[in-house]
Amino acid sequence: MHGDNNKTSKRKGLGNQTGTNRSLFRDVVVIYLLTFFLSLPFYFWKLHADLSILGEDALSRINSFVDNTAASLQPLLMDNMACTPGDVGALRKTVFLLYRVKEIGLINQDNRVYCTSNLGRTSIRIFPSTIARWPEIAGSRTLSLTRAKTGKTQSFFVYLRGQDGMGANALIPPDVLTELVGNGLPFDNLPFVVTVAGKPQLSDHNSIDVNEAKHQVSVLNFASPQYPLELEFLVTPRFKLHYLIEQYWISILLGSVFSLIYAYASHRRVLRQSLPATFEWALKNRELEVYFQPIVDPRIDNPLGFELLLRWQHPVHGMISPLIFIPLAEQLGKISALTDFVLDTAIDFIRDNEALMDSRYLSVNISRHSLLDHEFADRICQRCNNDRLITKHLLLEVTEELAFSESEMVTVIAQLNRLQTCGFRIAVDDFGTGYSGLDLIRRFPFDVVKIDKVFIKELVEEGTAIPLLDSMIELARRLDMSIIAEGVETVQQAESLLQRGVNYHQGFYYAKPMPQRTLLEWLNTFKRPTLSEEVELVS
Ligand code: C2E
Ligand code: CA
Ligand code: CA
Repeated sequence: MHGDNNKTSKRKGLGNQTGTNRSLFRDVVVIYLLTFFLSLPFYFWKLHADLSILGEDALSRINSFVDNTAASLQPLLMDNMACTPGDVGALRKTVFLLYRVKEIGLINQDNRVYCTSNLGRTSIRIFPSTIARWPEIAGSRTLSLTRAKTGKTQSFFVYLRGQDGMGANALIPPDVLTELVGNGLPFDNLPFVVTVAGKPQLSDHNSIDVNEAKHQVSVLNFASPQYPLELEFLVTPRFKLHYLIEQYWISILLGSVFSLIYAYASHRRVLRQSLPATFEWALKNRELEVYFQPIVDPRIDNPLGFELLLRWQHPVHGMISPLIFIPLAEQLGKISALTDFVLDTAIDFIRDNEALMDSRYLSVNISRHSLLDHEFADRICQRCNNDRLITKHLLLEVTEELAFSESEMVTVIAQLNRLQTCGFRIAVDDFGTGYSGLDLIRRFPFDVVKIDKVFIKELVEEGTAIPLLDSMIELARRLDMSIIAEGVETVQQAESLLQRGVNYHQGFYYAKPMPQRTLLEWLNTFKRPTLSEEVELVS
């Protein structure tokens, strides 16, 4: 029967696995896409931030170029040059020394260029718009971008005033502006415009019309604080796309990290959700723990023994009651593994605590499913090496809750006999609540009977089950079985039981089930309870 169960669950498991992989793949794709789309605002923010820094840097490069050029003109204005051949030579020397400067002109108080490094003496009018921007104050500077009358080429001028309205200018090819901006940009596909006094100079790799371009793009604008100079980045859709592609590795990286986390989490979830695996997982990962609940004789300070009760601390669902997971384990055919686990804990405990265990015993619950397994008793006896030093400290509790068929009953009795032969003592658990209790005790000499807590509850409530309880006690005595009362929660219950001669108690009144690590501490501090004087003890 168990074999069939296993096969079905394995088959189901495989089907689920393929489905799970497919949906995992789908989820991972969704994660990548989501990561990409969700990070789009981040990319646009980053693009804006990157370009803002680059724009400010580019503008300050042009500013310092202009500053340096103007500073180099300063010495020429010191000694009122008359445009002698010597003066022209001095102008030419300066042109030679200055980066990218093609010509230098000297300007008189009428705002006319009267001497240039190329032509010598001359007389050229400066545009009124330039004069308007260039006050006659020593040190004032301005810029202009003009088209020479004779050619198509534009000229970029830097102007500097000296004393008494005199001045000088330097002619520079305007592509120095685009060069200065372009050199510091990490991309070569970002169009930009440098505007000098309202006249635009486009980046040379772009022949788009400025006005047309501005319609399709977002424009980032930077203005120089000192000069009539502006820089505009024309952020075209094409540039944005290139930028996104360049930055896509961030999304891939993030997407991969998220997918890995997700895949790991869902792997764990699937593992948890597949029930057969859950138990193996719980067993392997020590989520299952055995708790010990003392069984005491309230007349003495010494506990008689402990019942071993399984606890499952599930990382997601918290503490799961054995009333839930034991039946589940039975259904899934995993109960033997659980019984082995508890039994091994018991054996280890007996071996490790010889002195403590001297006159005490440990109680282990045996599932009805195990008793129907023909090999169970042999397996358990072998697990204890048929060692009577171990088995005499062990009490096996068998519940009588469910009805057994005649053939099942034969198997159960055979198993119980075999267990008793190897030295185990056997208890009938939850006595009085099941169907086969009487039949069981008639056919097998149990050593101990454990009376279920429902009867103990009745003791103080003066319930109708008291006569039943008394007859069970009577029966147990007649059959020479020790009696343990379960679920003793109050001193009144304890006293009432003692008066009936039931001296072995288990219940929250004495101690709740506890983990092994706190057991020794509890033992050291345990004292028998103080009972009312009128309690008449029956021996
Ligand atoms: P059980 O064998 O009848 O165990 C006694 C149950 O009563 C325990 O519940 C215990 O915590 C609880 N109990 C003890 N004193 C009191 C009390 O004063 N008041 C009340 N209300 N309850 C008390 P637990 O630990 O939840 O176990 C429930 C059942 O799960 C057990 O009933 C047993 O049938 C099963 N179980 C526990 N561990 C194992 C195991 O290792 N193997 C098998 N096959 N079954 C187990
Ligand atoms: Ca029990
Ligand atoms: Ca019980």
